[in-house]
Amino acid sequence: MKVTDHLKQAKSTLFSIEILPPLKGKSIQSIFDGIDPLMEFKPSFVDVTYHREEYVYKKREGGFLEKVSTRKRPGTVGICAAIMNRYKVDAIPHIICGGFSVEETENALIDLHFLGIDNVLALRGDSIKSEPTFVPEPNGHAYAVDLVKQIRSLNSGKYMDEEMQQVAPTNFCVGVAGYPEKHFEAPNMTSDMLHLQSKINAGADYIVTQMFFDNKAYFDFVEKCNAMNINVPIIPGLKMLTTKKQLTILPKIFKIDIPFELHQAVEKCKNDAEAKQVGVEWCIAQSKELMQKGAPCLHYYTMGVSDSTRKVASAIF
Ligand code: FAD
Repeated sequence: MKVTDHLKQAKSTLFSIEILPPLKGKSIQSIFDGIDPLMEFKPSFVDVTYHREEYVYKKREGGFLEKVSTRKRPGTVGICAAIMNRYKVDAIPHIICGGFSVEETENALIDLHFLGIDNVLALRGDSIKSEPTFVPEPNGHAYAVDLVKQIRSLNSGKYMDEEMQQVAPTNFCVGVAGYPEKHFEAPNMTSDMLHLQSKINAGADYIVTQMFFDNKAYFDFVEKCNAMNINVPIIPGLKMLTTKKQLTILPKIFKIDIPFELHQAVEKCKNDAEAKQVGVEWCIAQSKELMQKGAPCLHYYTMGVSDSTRKVASAIF
């Protein structure tokens, strides 16, 4: 079922989760072990992130270094199929522009359509570590808006080969990313919001936000969206802080702020176990307020740590 239909039918705020594929070589059981404890809260959908290739240097005979392309967390599509099969819940693959030509994207979308997947989260993806800025694949998309346009075209039966006859259209519901604290590359919030608006105008059906720890950032973002006639559902993305180190790691990786009050509370913790408890309590408070103020769904970035998500879900749903 489409995310938009889940939201239309909802009588109260929905619960959803996001998971990462396991590291290459690990079994899918690690995914099930993370989802099993959360199923009693009836997630409406489970997002599965996509991880593009990275380059690593391998030592070869004679001391030479060989540059090798590797994907550390493959399996997004297979995991989605396995989740749908095991839990009978909608799984949402993330699809990215990086590393894909438009033809490869089309073929990937055909696979997803054949698997009965109704939703995709369309993203640009980040640059690979060896590149200072994002470089699209030759004949690939430079921005998520172009990916949204391609999915919309396929939904109206327009494949790349325009001469194809009697084609079957796809029917994807398309989500896109939004950044309450601005995307780190955007020179200012206004330009970022205008680019978000163009993703919606291109046919995106809903927005999932980057994580935030201060609800004011989300409420201000929703207000800005409303002022720009962005009227699609805006699903807040939430993460629980789980270690003391995340006080510095999360701002560095995700370019988000940790509010001073949370920062202080975590600093006072003697160990990670205490920090994790603070993270859970903070997230429960965030969730309660978001729910009370009408957020359509609370989307939790589990990042492989389902015990914290379980504690929050038990308090909220
Ligand atoms: P875009 O919407 O294309 O925006 C990228 C930047 O370009 C922004 O600064 C924007 O303002 C600017 N911009 C947009 N359009 C234009 C234009 N036409 N001209 C000039 N500038 C423009 N990454 C992964 O690799 N895999 C995942 O599974 C994944 N899941 C995510 C899930 C969520 C909910 C979020 C919030 C992010 C996720 N990401 C994921 C990270 C995401 O790929 C990065 O944040 C990436 O840098 C931007 O992706 P985007 O889709 O927001 O890009």
